[in-house]
Amino acid sequence: MFTKRKETKNPRLHTLNIPMLLVSSIVLAFLVYVTYVSLTNFTEMQDVTERYITAQQDASSMLAASDYLTAQTLIFAVNTDKSLVEKYFHEAFKSKRRERSVESMERLFPNNRAFAKLKSALAHSNELMQREFHAMRLIIEARKYPIDSFPQELRDFNLTPEELALQPVEQQRLAQQLVFGSDYQMYKDWIRDDISECLSLLQEETKEQMLKTPALMRNLIRYQYILIIVLVIVMLVFIASTSLLVIKPLKQGADSMRKQQTMPEVGVYELQSFAKTYNDLFLQNQDLKSKLAYKAEHDALTGLLNRGAFERMRLQNEKRKTALILVDVDKFKEINDTHGHDVGDKVLQKVARFLLQSFRAEDHVFRLGGDEFAIIMVYADSSMRDIVEQKMLQCNEQLSTPKDGLPVATLSVGVAFSDRKDPSGDIFKDADLALYSVKRRGRNGIAFYSDAPTQE
Ligand code: GH3
Ligand code: MG
Repeated sequence: MFTKRKETKNPRLHTLNIPMLLVSSIVLAFLVYVTYVSLTNFTEMQDVTERYITAQQDASSMLAASDYLTAQTLIFAVNTDKSLVEKYFHEAFKSKRRERSVESMERLFPNNRAFAKLKSALAHSNELMQREFHAMRLIIEARKYPIDSFPQELRDFNLTPEELALQPVEQQRLAQQLVFGSDYQMYKDWIRDDISECLSLLQEETKEQMLKTPALMRNLIRYQYILIIVLVIVMLVFIASTSLLVIKPLKQGADSMRKQQTMPEVGVYELQSFAKTYNDLFLQNQDLKSKLAYKAEHDALTGLLNRGAFERMRLQNEKRKTALILVDVDKFKEINDTHGHDVGDKVLQKVARFLLQSFRAEDHVFRLGGDEFAIIMVYADSSMRDIVEQKMLQCNEQLSTPKDGLPVATLSVGVAFSDRKDPSGDIFKDADLALYSVKRRGRNGIAFYSDAPTQE
């Protein structure tokens, strides 16, 4: 039978898991978001740094190219070596470092002030080139180099008639004045100023962005730190609650099963229900087992212990001081025949009752079968012979004067004590011998093994 118990308040497995799953999912989503933002910021910072370095290289490249052009021109103005013109034009129109640096910076920082400065540097450098062409042209004229062997830009540069009329030495001096003079230096200063301003503007802008990013990164890392702690706490709570409400009860349950006990109804609701069902079945099974055990050892009609139990207990008490009393109803067949089987059954039940009442609780009363009974008296020796006799005589007296409407019945009783004289070795056989002697004597009486006629 399933007994109804009080509902417990322990949570169900999903009411335990779902909130934790939900919290960890939210925390995890935040963590992914914060990590994504951190990564984006980091990449941006890397980009800014890379762009700054590239832009710095562009500005340096512009200055280097301009200085290279200046150097070629200055040296040419002094040593008039034609190969310098070649190098100059190669730098100005083939390598084009200056234009390339402007293009590169335009890609990185279009429309910003640093780019405007670099463009201005290029413009000043280009303006300076006209002066340099002029100087080169004067040198070519002075040295009477064939003009056709020089680039188009120089061929297209026309000297004034006055300049053409000058002596070669003067033409060379004029050329040197053009590139060594203060005007030329002024242009060079402008170029340097433009580039230096370009660099400091770049630095300013980059610094602003680079300072912003670490502060943001610091905050993001702090959030990540907090979120990871929350996640760890949620996981610890999950582990603790699972081990407390699931694993521990499961272990206890397994232990109880092994020890064949009811299991504690603890843990999550599902485990509690499982334990309740198991306990109900276990108790039912125990009950069934004890009923079966009782049936196996008891007689259905009288409720006394049966022959099987007698054999077992006889062996158990073999070495102890006992008395074995065998009882047989006299002429029971006649009772059955005269009054019917049902009345016979009632007489048997009455005999059983009297026997139980006559002996102590620690003694064992059996129905061996049919109208045959036995009593094993424990802690009994021959000194109790009179007591036993008294008990049985009383039983016989009561049975022979029935007040319940049942027919008169008498008992024949054979007794053997474990400390009897001349034992045969089998106490049952000896008690039966005593019983047989009573039957032979005419029934309704008691005999003790040592008094049995065959022993005399
Ligand atoms: P004696 O004095 O020599 O013992 O004669 P008796 O008639 O009692 O002979 P016995 O002990 O051999 O007979 C036992 C009878 O008990 C035989 C059987 O029909 C009857 N009997 C056996 N079991 C039951 C039972 O459960 N109920 C009833 N009513 N009778 C039973
Ligand atoms: Mg009999």
